[in-house]
Formats: sequence, structure tokens, C-alpha cells
Amino acid sequence: MGLNGAKIFTTSFDRPNISYEIVERDQPRQQLLRFLAGHKGNSGIVYCLSRAKVEDTAEWLNGQGIRALAYHAGMDRAVRDANQDAFLKEEDLCLVATVAFGMGIDKPNVRYVAHLDLPGSVEAYYQETGRAGRDGLPSEVWMAYGMADVIQRGRMIDEGGAADEIKRVERSKLNALLAICETASCRRQAILSHFGESHAGNCGGCDTCLKPVETWDGTDAAIKALAAIYRTGERFGTGHVVDVLIGNVNEKTERFGHTEMPVFGAGKDIAARTWQSVFRQLLAMGLVRVDHGAFGALKLEEGARAVFKREREVFFRKDRPASERRPKRAAQAERRSVLSGSDDALFEALRAERTAIARSLSVPPYVVFPDTTLIAFATERPRTHKELLGISGVGQSKLERYGDAFLEVILGFDG
Ligand SMILES: [Zn+2]
Repeated sequence: MGLNGAKIFTTSFDRPNISYEIVERDQPRQQLLRFLAGHKGNSGIVYCLSRAKVEDTAEWLNGQGIRALAYHAGMDRAVRDANQDAFLKEEDLCLVATVAFGMGIDKPNVRYVAHLDLPGSVEAYYQETGRAGRDGLPSEVWMAYGMADVIQRGRMIDEGGAADEIKRVERSKLNALLAICETASCRRQAILSHFGESHAGNCGGCDTCLKPVETWDGTDAAIKALAAIYRTGERFGTGHVVDVLIGNVNEKTERFGHTEMPVFGAGKDIAARTWQSVFRQLLAMGLVRVDHGAFGALKLEEGARAVFKREREVFFRKDRPASERRPKRAAQAERRSVLSGSDDALFEALRAERTAIARSLSVPPYVVFPDTTLIAFATERPRTHKELLGISGVGQSKLERYGDAFLEVILGFDG
């Protein structure tokens, strides 16, 4: 009754053109450089937590031959605005920023977003990564994170002025993101599930799908890790507890008499780096927590009991060796697989034309035409005004303003 023609609008949180990758932070700058190597000619954002890190990272990238500009709220207003303007107008530019950047920014061809620090929640991660690929073309998001992030974020929550109830919510939001970082299955599925949306998994567009993670039965290791926390009185942070597990004799382990304990060296068959990963995963599983009021001491949570009693098995993901190649789905590579050799050469020629026009008009290139339109030019090769008008993104006024310039490039191209 009166419902004919009513439409139900459903909006999915899924961003199928974005591929996700989250890695354990090991040598963050080198890892970032390897990620950016897949994005020559592209623009993107690198998010850092602190202003100092933004400036250091931008300066370092420039030294590595990557054109990078900084953006944070503490900068001189004129410089900040100029950097933002350059990012909007130019291609092949890396903007290193705090989260202050991005509000109200709608650059459609941001091809990558990298995080050098862990955001505070899945919502923040989703929003920040969502600035990539608004034009619908393949884009990559990447994050390097480690235990230090978990400690730092936790401290920010604990030392913030919020009421206890709010702090509890913030902690659970942080843990939800941590669980996505440590998942051994599809990241897209995990992200969508956080927003109450189901996804079959195996998306083919995240690192865990492209290169499935191996898991190992870590029940024995988990029991040792939890025992080491318990036996040392739940008073120490990860570094010290790992020292106890691997039997590292040093001033601190001796001073506290930990070298005399049965648990000392009980985990020496496992590398320190793997133990670090074990503790991150125990945190993500909610079996332990970090007490920031006690200088980052690890404390056991209720669920630890079931592991001690062997009522609960624990599986850990195997971290990939840091040197291992990244699974490949670089936006660049993706575009080249869409465009054949000669189409790709034409696309580059069209892009150069667009850059020249944009510069002369002092507008961002996508205002002239988005990448999607240039790709259609390169593949469909319109030869007349009428054919140009048949391509998505070309209207009468753009045809009049830019049509001939692009036709000239297409007609002059003998690919
Ligand atoms: Zn996936």
C-alpha cells in the first residue's frame, strides 16, 4: 500500500577498491620505504602520531628522494595551508601528517594511506584509511605497529581526563583494533564485522588473504608466558618478562632474584621477537592487560585461568620475517594490469597533459578530469567531440574547456 517504488538504501562499509596490509613494526622507515616503492608517481598520506615524528619523517623521506611535505596543527598556518594546497594540486606527493589532516579533504585520487602509528580505534582506522581511493580505483592502505603503540595508546587513555566509564570504552575500542591487527584471517571481514556487517572472508584484497598467515599451537607457550607474569608478581612490563622467559641474566633479573626461579629460561627455545609477538597476541585476546598506573606492568585477566588449566587452547599467528617481500597488489601494478602496455603509455601522456593544464589553471588535477576518465580515454580512445562526450566524467563544459587538448594527445599517439 503506497510502498510501490519505495527504495531501500543500504550502504555498505566495504571499500572493495582498498587493499589492507598490517605489518609488525621492525625497521619502520625501511618498511615504509619498501611500501612507497610500489607507489612511484602516486600521491598519498603517511599518518604519524606526533608532530615531531611528522617533521622527522617528511625530512627523511625527502632525503630518500621521495617528495614529501609535512602537515600538523602546530605548524605556521601559511606553511600548513601551502602544503595542503600542494597536496591537493599535485601528483606524486607524499603528505606526512597527524590526524589533524583530512577533515573536509576530498582529494579523490589518494592512492595510499600509511600509518606509522596505531590509531586509537577501528573507527579512526577506518576513517583515516577511507581517505584513500575515493575515485574507486585500486588503492592500498598499510600500517606498521608494535607493542610500543599498545602501551602508548593505553597510557594516553589512562592519563586522559575522561571518566572511568569512558576510559573503559576507549580501552575496548583500542582492543578491537588490536584484534584486527593480530587476526590470522581476512582483515576486511574483521573490519566489516566490527561494523556489524557480514562478509564471507577471503576478500583477495588484504595481506592475510593474499598470503595466508600460518598459525601455531601456542598453548604451552601461552602457559609459560602467563606463568612468567604471575611468578614475577604482575609487576613488570613485556621487556623484563621476556628476559625472564629467555633466561637473560642482567642487572634487573638478578636484582629481583628472577634468575633463581623455575620459569627463568623456560622459554629459551623461542626467540625474543616471537615472545614479543606472543604478548601482543595475548593482549589482543584479552588474556592479559597492561597496567599503566604500574609503569606498564602486565597483569593477568580472568580468561588466563582457563589457559592455565588447559581448558582453552591458544593459537598464535606466525609473524613473517621482516625481510620477506610484501604481498603484491600495489595500486600501480593493479593499474598496469588493467591497462595494456600501449594504453598505459597513453595514460601517462594524458596524465602529463592534465598536470600541465592543472598547473596553468592552478587547480588540482582531478578537477580537470579524474583518473577514471583518463583511463577510459586511454582504453576507448575517443576521436571526436561526440565520442568524448560518451565518456563518464566528460560534460559539455569540460568538453569545451579541455576536450581539444586531450583529443590532440590521443590522436597524436601511435600506440
Ligand atoms: Zn581479506
